[in-house]
This record gives sequence, C-alpha cells and structure tokens, in this order.
Amino acid sequence: MIKHRRYVTPSGWNAVASNRVQWRALGGDLSVAFLVVGAGYAGLAAARRLAELYPDEVIALIDAGQPAENSSGRNSGFMIDLPYAKIDARSAPEQSQWQIDLLRAGKDFLQTIVDAHGIACGWRQIGHYKAATTDFGVAQLRGVEATLRQHRVPFRELTAEEVERELGSRYYKKAIWLESCTLVQPAELVHGLVEALPANVQAYFDTPVERISGRRPYCVLAGGHEIRARQILLCVNADMPEFGHAKYRQLTLYTYAGMTRELSPAEAAVFGAADDWGLTPVERLEATSRKVGGRRYMLRAGFSYKNELPSEAVSEVLAGMLRVRYPQLPGNMFEHVWGGAVSLTRNGDPYLRQATLRQASLRQADLRQATGGVHAVSGCNASGILKMSAMGKLLAESVAGVESALLGQTRAFSRPGFIPPDPLRRIAVHLSINRIARAMKRPAHSL
Ligand SMILES: Cc1cc2nc3c(=O)[nH]c(=O)nc-3n(C[C@H](O)[C@H](O)[C@H](O)COP(=O)(O)OP(=O)(O)OC[C@H]3O[C@@H](n4cnc5c(N)ncnc54)[C@H](O)[C@@H]3O)c2cc1C
Repeated sequence: MIKHRRYVTPSGWNAVASNRVQWRALGGDLSVAFLVVGAGYAGLAAARRLAELYPDEVIALIDAGQPAENSSGRNSGFMIDLPYAKIDARSAPEQSQWQIDLLRAGKDFLQTIVDAHGIACGWRQIGHYKAATTDFGVAQLRGVEATLRQHRVPFRELTAEEVERELGSRYYKKAIWLESCTLVQPAELVHGLVEALPANVQAYFDTPVERISGRRPYCVLAGGHEIRARQILLCVNADMPEFGHAKYRQLTLYTYAGMTRELSPAEAAVFGAADDWGLTPVERLEATSRKVGGRRYMLRAGFSYKNELPSEAVSEVLAGMLRVRYPQLPGNMFEHVWGGAVSLTRNGDPYLRQATLRQASLRQADLRQATGGVHAVSGCNASGILKMSAMGKLLAESVAGVESALLGQTRAFSRPGFIPPDPLRRIAVHLSINRIARAMKRPAHSL
C-alpha cells in the first residue's frame, strides 16, 4: 500500500490566493496511454509536454491532494536562474553550465505559459538579496562574490547599515543584491498552470495512488478506482520512496513558513520602502524572507528530518525569528503557518529514472505496441520551481524520444549518490545540522 502525505496545516499562499481552479476527483475507471502521478511543477510540466507531443492521446494527471496544497503551492516563490551561490567552484564547468541551462529551460517554459495564458501570479523579475547573519556567513558571502566576479555577474554589495535602510532589519551583517531572481505567488502559479493544461490532459485531485500492479499496461488503484496505463510518469518528489524508487538516493526534510496578516501602512513601512523584496540566506540553514505586495511579510525557516513538527512549535520558532529581525513588531503576527516536504539528494543533483524502452522513441504510431514503463523525476533539493518544471518537461521528452543536448546532459549529470538507510541517515542529517550550527556559533535547535 502506497502511503501519501497529509500536511498538518494548509498552505498560507493557497489561503490568500486570488485564483482557484475548479477541480474534481477521479469518479470511475480509466484506460490511458500515459498516467502522470503528482501535480506539482514536475507533473504539470510532464503532462503538458506529453499532451503537446501526443495530441491524439488522453493524458491522465492525478494527485493525492488538492491543487496547490503540495510543496509547489507552499514554497517561498523564489526563481533564481543563475545559481552561482549554490554552484560549487570545484565542479566541472560543463556541470555548472548544465545547472544554469536546466534552470533557464524551466524559466522559459514557465514564462511562456504564464504569458500565453495571462496567469496572474505576481510574476516579477525583481532580483534578490543574499545575506549573511554570522561571521561564518560573511566569509561564505566573500566566496560567492569571488565566484560572481569570476563569471562576470554584476552584483551590489550592502553593509549592515545599507541592509537596514532597505529592509528595515539590523539582523544582517552583510548582503549582496543580484539581479537574477523572479518572485511569484506559488499557489497562484499552480492554480494557473492547472487551469492552462491542454484539453487532452484530464486532471484529477484528491485521488491518491494506493497500488501499482501488473505490467504494461499497469493497473493503478487510485481513489478506489482502477487506471490502466502503459506509461507511468512518477513526479511525486519527496514521496518517491513510497513508490519503491530512489529509496537510497534521497531523503525527506520538512521546512516551515509563516505569513503575516495584512499589515497596516505603518507596519509595512518597518520592512523598508519597497513593496516587494526577497532575501535568501548564504548560510545553508538560515531563513528566507519576503515582503509581499506591500501588504504581508513571509518568513521560511527551520528544518526537521522526516516528520512534520506540530504547528504550535513552528509558530513559536517563527515568532522568535521575526522578533530578532524586527524587534519593534509583535512576534505573533503570523496569520498562516505551514510546513512542506522537500527531497534532498547527497550531491544536490535531481533524480531521473527512465524505464528502458524497447523502441528508441515512442512516436505516435508506435505507441500501442510500445513496451511501456515507469519513469520518474524527484530530488528537488529545496529549489524546484524552475528545476522540477524543466525535469518534468525533459522526462516527457525522454519518454517520447525527443532528444536534446539538455536531456543528454541531464542523463549524464543527474546521478545522486548513495544515502544509507536509518539509523545512519538520521545520524548523518543531525551531524550535518550540528556542523553548520557550530560554524554559525548557534545552538542546532535554533536553526
Ligand atoms: C516551505 C518551502 C519553501 C520553498 N521555497 C522554494 C523557493 O523559494 N524556490 C524554489 O524553487 N523551491 C522552493 N521550495 C521547493 C519547491 O517547493 C519544490 O522543489 C517543488 O515544489 C517540487 O515540485 P515537484 O513537482 O517535484 O513536487 P511536489 O510539489 O511535492 O509535488 C508532488 C506531488 O505528488 C503528489 N503525490 C505524492 N504521493 C502521491 C500519491 N500516492 N498519489 C497521488 N499523488 C501523490 C503530491 O500530492 C504532490 O502534489 C520550497 C519548499 C518548501 C516546502
């Protein structure tokens, strides 16, 4: 029996979203050539691309939850397409270039849909601050600056006083501002992407896959009904091990976020003059924050291994984090508090599984005779809006035999390393959190 995730609280972004797609659950049995499981960015991209490549086929897309209640609808909405802060200077240049190409492909793909369908999701190319809160972070920021100079990427340096002037907080020791970053209301984006799916995609929500059996066609038990499908594309991210894949290639962390109630003009002014800004941390486990539309403030912080924390504990941690950043405000301003699961791989590479196909390509004419298989992408590594959109699209193209340089590089570089099972896994996660905490001179439970 495949178990599916239920979050403790709804997504704050979804609660305040201004658009809502009409959705339905699966109401009977189905027989399709393609079944995509998971309606996050990866599954939405895979279903859309399959629909374009096979205009005469019906593509079924099913999800265990409701639209935008997944990680895709509960993230912080940062789309950073020049990931120099994350790129390891020691990695091979072609691997660094692949990461950039992958993110750019994801951005082009999403932007085309958002523009073509006029999806109102606050999509703004606005840049972002990358900030340090500790001496350890300041040293790391210097390393990022060196990489940026090496690649001739322009950035602006900010002292602690300049950060305070722009963002209203004295908490940061130093920051840089980079042009690369588009901010989005993630739940509105997900609703818009579902709404904009091509007519030959049938999307069903609240329909968890409970079992997959048989072989080509597979027999999938979902929401009490049977789906027969020749090709299954699993886009279930942190839930992939439940489906028997990537068990030793990825682990699940939860991270948490809070969004304030609507701010009064005086409260909003505390967060600086700009209506919107986004800040990501240079220290790996520090917090992400945003001022949203001049009306709200969002903070994403904290991690837990494998299990979601109760919302009271999360509220307390987030209130403390708000207080250290903005001591002049009451800590209890968060109207919405939620957690979300991400899948991490050992070396940060996404996971790609292609079933061996007898034909090199599943062209339309070959489809009925094709052998079929189970294909999968996961391993978002906590930054998947662009990456998993690109991975979902590439997965569909690999199934259809549409080759490209990017697909070839993705096959070559998507090779997450081995992660041992618990208890070693749990020990390794805690050791690595403790190591970062020590470097930041902070207690591990404060991260
Ligand atoms: C708090 C938070 C902040 C984040 N901030 C950012 C950010 O600023 N920028 C960024 O790029 N990324 C961010 N991320 C990461 C980002 O949200 C993910 O990388 C991304 O959403 C992954 O998309 P996905 O489609 O792979 O997976 P998901 O969105 O997790 O979708 C997987 C889907 O599979 C479905 N599923 C699972 N099991 C079953 C089943 N048995 N049957 C049917 N369906 C099933 C789930 O219901 C889910 O809808 C953040 C994540 C969190 C939690």
